[in-house]
Amino acid sequence: MPEPLPEPLGLFGGTFDPVHFGHLRLAEEASGQLELAGVRWLPAGQPAHRGEPQVAPAERLDMVRLATAGNARFVVDAAEVEAAAPSYTVPTLERLRRELGAQQPLVLLLGADAFAGLTSWHRWRAVFDLTHIAVSHRPGFPVTAAALPSALAAELAARSADVAALRAAPAGRIVTFAMTQLAISATDIRQRLMAGRSVRYLLPDDVLDYIQTHSLYRNS
Ligand code: ATP
Repeated sequence: MPEPLPEPLGLFGGTFDPVHFGHLRLAEEASGQLELAGVRWLPAGQPAHRGEPQVAPAERLDMVRLATAGNARFVVDAAEVEAAAPSYTVPTLERLRRELGAQQPLVLLLGADAFAGLTSWHRWRAVFDLTHIAVSHRPGFPVTAAALPSALAAELAARSADVAALRAAPAGRIVTFAMTQLAISATDIRQRLMAGRSVRYLLPDDVLDYIQTHSLYRNS
């Protein structure tokens, strides 16, 4: 009898500019529904091109640490923020594979919008050799073949699996899961803050306190 594989580990990357309850519920619900050993949060180092003002990677990292601090199953990986170079998903997955070993099932958690953009990633097909993917539903972003680039729709059709498959191999399958639908986005939060409007109850109070103390996402 071959040795059973270790429990699957969730990987959750994002800009988290700022982290909000949509992110937290995604990680929490993935953790429960996909029976993950834990979720490793991977804040991206190099911010995508966004409107001013820019928030430093170290501040986004601080906010993710504050938001996840109370959950023993969440671990924050600061490597991408600490690296000087821009972050790309495939090299990050290769690093984690080296660190965690060939047998560890990995599950990359993606919202439906992020999954739909997967073919634009550098060396995107290598992702399936490195990790499983779990796609969460997100308001406004259907996970259907018609809504995806054809090459990705073909991968989805070929790799679709159930939760049990995530424990049976280290990588290569795609599952979708329904989470509590929260139409919260960091873009909307930034816009509200810049307009001086309330974002309370869209993100954790500790994160809001940090934003206010550090005068982030202000026009002036
Ligand atoms: P922005 O509005 O700046 O693009 P965002 O709110 O989409 O930001 P990201 O940091 O880009 O946040 O997202 C990280 C991951 O979380 C992505 O996989 C994204 O699809 C997912 N995600 C973010 N918000 C939600 C949400 N409300 N429901 C489901 N998934 C979400």
